Amino acid sequence: MCSDTKPNIFENAAEHQDLPAGDFSSWLRHARSVLIIENGTDVNCGECIACCNSSQFIHVRPDETRTLGRIGKDLLVAAPGLPKGHVLLGYDKNGFCPMMVNGKCSIYEHRPLTCRNYDCRVFAAAGLAAGDDDKARITERVRRWKFSYPAKSDHDEHLAVQAAAKFIREHAECFPGGKIPSNPSQLAILAIKAYDVFLKKDGGSVKTGRASLDTEVANAIVEACRKFDASKRTSRGC
Ligand code: SF4
Repeated sequence: MCSDTKPNIFENAAEHQDLPAGDFSSWLRHARSVLIIENGTDVNCGECIACCNSSQFIHVRPDETRTLGRIGKDLLVAAPGLPKGHVLLGYDKNGFCPMMVNGKCSIYEHRPLTCRNYDCRVFAAAGLAAGDDDKARITERVRRWKFSYPAKSDHDEHLAVQAAAKFIREHAECFPGGKIPSNPSQLAILAIKAYDVFLKKDGGSVKTGRASLDTEVANAIVEACRKFDASKRTSRGC
């Protein structure tokens, strides 16, 4: 999330210009590695603070002690469904993160890992809006990101990520329990984890459209995500 100097994005005359998002395949490798290692990403936020003022709950892990030491306890709530010690940093009535002071992050050097790993290009990659009205500022930013395609593989991989996101969104009934994430961010991340299922191999195409084929594709997505998450656990030694 945001850099440490933050004038208002909406006063910037260049706010509608395209933004270079990088070569797609290079970006995809990096985004997947950040999902595994969680070592922070390198988004060119410029003056944008959209993700810090879009009514987002920020997950903070119990081992982020330096971060937790800088956030008032009254601003944190227990994270539902996660083990004790995991907390969420909420937002104020205007949707602003309470750590935002005078347009900049007051704990930037110690901001949560969630903020360090956040990359709104995942929505541009998956062809999704960032969410409802309270995420409109992020979606405005997302629309400006433009990937480049120096090789055919850049183009093919982008189509595969978008096809994965579209398939997941349109085939909830094929997934276990008939459930898919309602959160666009989680949906985009699933597509990034499982895009390989939609990569056309040897000139062939991924067959969908019949119930049995769709269920096969959904199973392949679940398996691809399972393998991806297993590689994450391995890299963390757990
Ligand atoms: S802690 Fe709040 S203000 Fe700082 S980067 Fe994260 S969301 Fe933005």
